[in-house]
Amino acid sequence: MFEHDVIIVGGGLAGCRAAVEIARTDPSLNVAVVAKTHPIRSHSVAAQGGIAATLKNVDSTDTWEAHAFDTVKGSDYLADQDAVEILTREAPDVVIDLEHMGVLFSRLNDGRIAQRAFGGHSHHRTCYAADKTGHAILHELVNNLRRYGVKIYQEWYVMRLILEEGQAKGLVMYRIEDGKIEVVRAKAVMFATGGYGRVYNTTSNDYASTGDGLAMTAAAGLPLEDMEFVQFHPTGLYPVGVLISEAVRGEGAYLINSEGERFMARYAPSRMELAPRDITSRAIAYEIRAGRGIHSDGSAGGPFVYLDLRHMGKEKIMSRVPFCWEEAHRLVGVDAVTQPMPVRPTIHYCMGGIPVNTNGQVRSSGEGLVDGFFSAGETACVSVHGANRLGSNSLLECVVYGRRTGAAIAQFVQKRKLPLVDEQRYITEAKQQIQTLLDQPGKYRINQVRQAFQDCMTQYCGVFRTEELMREGLLKLEELQQQYSQIYLDDKGDCWNTEIVEAMEMRSLMLVGRIILESAANRRESRGAHFREDYPERDDPNFLKHTMAYYSPAGIDIQYRHVAMTMFQPQERKY
Ligand SMILES: Cc1cc2nc3c(=O)[nH]c(=O)nc-3n(C[C@H](O)[C@H](O)[C@H](O)COP(=O)(O)OP(=O)(O)OC[C@H]3O[C@@H](n4cnc5c(N)ncnc54)[C@H](O)[C@@H]3O)c2cc1C
Repeated sequence: MFEHDVIIVGGGLAGCRAAVEIARTDPSLNVAVVAKTHPIRSHSVAAQGGIAATLKNVDSTDTWEAHAFDTVKGSDYLADQDAVEILTREAPDVVIDLEHMGVLFSRLNDGRIAQRAFGGHSHHRTCYAADKTGHAILHELVNNLRRYGVKIYQEWYVMRLILEEGQAKGLVMYRIEDGKIEVVRAKAVMFATGGYGRVYNTTSNDYASTGDGLAMTAAAGLPLEDMEFVQFHPTGLYPVGVLISEAVRGEGAYLINSEGERFMARYAPSRMELAPRDITSRAIAYEIRAGRGIHSDGSAGGPFVYLDLRHMGKEKIMSRVPFCWEEAHRLVGVDAVTQPMPVRPTIHYCMGGIPVNTNGQVRSSGEGLVDGFFSAGETACVSVHGANRLGSNSLLECVVYGRRTGAAIAQFVQKRKLPLVDEQRYITEAKQQIQTLLDQPGKYRINQVRQAFQDCMTQYCGVFRTEELMREGLLKLEELQQQYSQIYLDDKGDCWNTEIVEAMEMRSLMLVGRIILESAANRRESRGAHFREDYPERDDPNFLKHTMAYYSPAGIDIQYRHVAMTMFQPQERKY
């Protein structure tokens, strides 16, 4: 059995930032990070547009209060305002700290960190490294893990959270290289496992974004919060779904329909292309539905709209958003200097997640906390994004709450002993689970069931939702669940058996998908990214509260948690 003071699952921004904080606070602690990819290949590395902070380098009138207001309004008033206050107040400090670690931010002529406009933000406050911001930050953080002597388990798949009598005691993990199973016990366990984009068939997320941490938490009987809020990014490159950063619109690009019209004037006249993502994605979906989308031959009535950069000029495109130019050129053969890019909404971000307090400690209910269990980053719900996240607030959340959670863990473990864990029991159960997958005489292939599942979620729980549609989706999911128990693996070996990993990921996807659908069907109002055609208005008297969904194999039980409203009262949300 492996033993550590702290075990962190996830080598993205949130996990790495927490590990660095723990090591800085108490260098004597034995800290480990485990990831199913190499940490550098965590989805954080793909983040493009930037990280928000009121440094006031470009706009001296900006304030943390303005950042907080934009975030709360963007969230459609569902964010917890105490958590938003911490996020926005601490933002300048964490960005400067990243700079001191060596992150190569883009600069103004006078040498200070440059800042650009972003959707839903009232000031130019997004700091960036061209359109490769995640790359710049994650590389420095991973370097720092090595500097501080953090143990890294790379390409280990964590299968299970060990939770006994309300206390997190460790993990069960599977080494992908040779199929070895190990139990880890630790004084504190942290999940920083990222999002679940792969629940849907078109996503900006990487292949590893399968919601494992969410599924393991739910399977352990703990609640997941606000899972109905799924962010569609307005500009996924058609047809691949790969992200074209909001930074492109921040730098001045237009959205155009088949009639050559900048249609955002009808949906958000004051913010135009820089309205928040929920509003912009819905606007694009409406245009396509009304027959003002575009076909690949340029004719009307097609499945995408245009993102037009041509007026920005080659020099600006190549210096500010070179990676987006490259992606469009490489993946769909479009030269954005002379041609518009085909785009449509793509699944991008998980607003809900594992409920935590502002120290990153996981909630066991509306009131209670789990002993020894922490979470931060996209997989956690603290909740700073409420019903809709603003661009460049997620990297910020990872760094602010990664740091805070690290500090809280360093305190927490001081007077704790290593918990007692029955290693043999967990090894036997994990081996059985894998053997069952290998022995199953099934008739379906994983990719068949996964594709059907992703299509089902996209069709029944997409941008526009209704009761009828989602009930149908839930029935369909039950059928697919049956098919999952009849999947057949070709590879029976233990050397790099990626089929086993895919089968375990598939189980996570299905569990998370079910919770998303049930939570969405239960919320009979429209708020932020959750849009119900049968309940098109926001309903504060009945639904200004967080969903807490408890999973059990028998079904999902929905309860609620109050929203912390310390600064701003809900208003009508207009842009
Ligand atoms: C293309 C793209 C561009 C983006 N651009 C921006 C931007 O400009 N600004 C912004 O603020 N946000 C942006 N975002 C969002 C932001 O990047 C993410 O929300 C954030 O990076 C998530 O970081 P994380 O540390 O929570 O998780 P991730 O970086 O996703 O890392 C998850 C980690 O968990 C590990 N893991 C997961 N499951 C297991 C398991 N079962 N066993 C072992 N390890 C596991 C993975 O290996 C990985 O190391 C973007 C997202 C995408 C997809």
